[in-house]
Amino acid sequence: MNSQQLFRRSRLQLAAWYAIVMGGILSLSGLGMTRVLVQANWVALEREIESIAGTLHDSLEPILPAATDPTDVLQQILPDLCVVEAPCAPNPSLIQRHTIGISDRTTYYIRLFDNQGNLLAFSPNQPKPLSANLNPAPWQTLQTVDGSRYRQFTTIIHSAAHTHVPDEVSHEHPSWGYLQVGRTLRAFDAERQRLRWILIASFPLILGLIAIASWWLSGLAMQPIYQSYQQQQQFTANAAHELRSPLASLLATVEAILRLPPEESEQVSKLLPTVERQGRRLSQLVADLLLLTSLEQDGTPKPLQPCCLNDIVADLTEELAEFAATTDIRLSHQLPDTEIHVMGQESQLYRLVSNLIANAIQYTPSGGAVIVSLATRDRSAKITVKDTGIGIPAAEQRRIFERFYRVNSDRSRTTGGTGLGLAIAQAIVQRHQGHLSLNSEIDQGSTFTVSLPIDL
Ligand code: ADP
Repeated sequence: MNSQQLFRRSRLQLAAWYAIVMGGILSLSGLGMTRVLVQANWVALEREIESIAGTLHDSLEPILPAATDPTDVLQQILPDLCVVEAPCAPNPSLIQRHTIGISDRTTYYIRLFDNQGNLLAFSPNQPKPLSANLNPAPWQTLQTVDGSRYRQFTTIIHSAAHTHVPDEVSHEHPSWGYLQVGRTLRAFDAERQRLRWILIASFPLILGLIAIASWWLSGLAMQPIYQSYQQQQQFTANAAHELRSPLASLLATVEAILRLPPEESEQVSKLLPTVERQGRRLSQLVADLLLLTSLEQDGTPKPLQPCCLNDIVADLTEELAEFAATTDIRLSHQLPDTEIHVMGQESQLYRLVSNLIANAIQYTPSGGAVIVSLATRDRSAKITVKDTGIGIPAAEQRRIFERFYRVNSDRSRTTGGTGLGLAIAQAIVQRHQGHLSLNSEIDQGSTFTVSLPIDL
């Protein structure tokens, strides 16, 4: 499987997981929301029934007849109800006085029972067939044969004589009877069904949107991994390329030595320095690659120690003075009176500064100057390496910190550089939580500035 297929498959897997998790969470929250809505409707509906029953109860209690057969009186006070075993001819305008809030008479029904549970009176719109026997449970949900559902509330009703009797006493003296208020659940069921349909219909649509979003998000998530993978591949290719040239040259020289006729054996001593140079170059390249890899790995960092930057700058300018002198370059340093210390790894800091000074010398024509200065600013130590060299084109200034990148490959190679010097410098600065910046102008020179936090 090639890398493209591998990344595509990983993206697909990631998208599928995203979709499953997001779809699951959304479905659960959708179901939860619907449940909460239905529950809220149900509670509101019960409160409405209860409030209507309460209003009716309060309106009826003072006027209820105490008679054992209250039928006649009932017909007078509630002419809108049908009285059991009497012709049912309700007068719709009167019930509205008693049933406050019952605007839609098809929605609610009322039933009155005596204290034995015998039905006395009922609204003509009560669900049919409804048992004439009382079920005293306060809340009931009924379903008729045609599938219509009703919610029904039953409450005890006292006549005026019993109204203010305390509870315990009222148990001894039976109540006047029972009032039942019921409400059709047609609207509630329709609403619940509507919500269910909305959920069912929107589910595939939302799932589709989630799938698209997941594919896009997984693409975004894979991008940095893909880029890093490509960089690694590029790095491997570049490293192989860099190793190939000195190896080929080395092999060619060794072959030439082997082919030398015995009488020309004195030529061997002339060719050996080339072998040694190429061998050193290879060894330098491998050492640089290993250093870079170890710098970029997140392994356990070595313990930090206080490093005196004055010593590092002074030692390196002294060490490289001879190298600068060979190309007639004035190498000097400017140090502050006080010592500047940073916490870090001394060998790495030596490597960082020496790379910058060596580059400054290499890319400055004869007669030029390189100045290394050290100062403190804003709680940072600043090491500045300034040369009067060839400068770096603005377009290349970002890229020179990439591994193996050279502004002018051929020329850089003749200087013996591996193309890793600035990448190593950058990695060391980052390891020390510092910052490396560049200011350069073509033919005017370059200034590399390293900022390191003083109290790491
Ligand atoms: P090299 O081993 O080729 O010097 P580096 O990583 O050290 O590799 O530098 C990358 C490139 O940056 C060099 O090839 C060179 O073109 C450019 N460069 C680095 N330092 C300087 C400088 N002081 N002046 C001009 N160009 C520079």
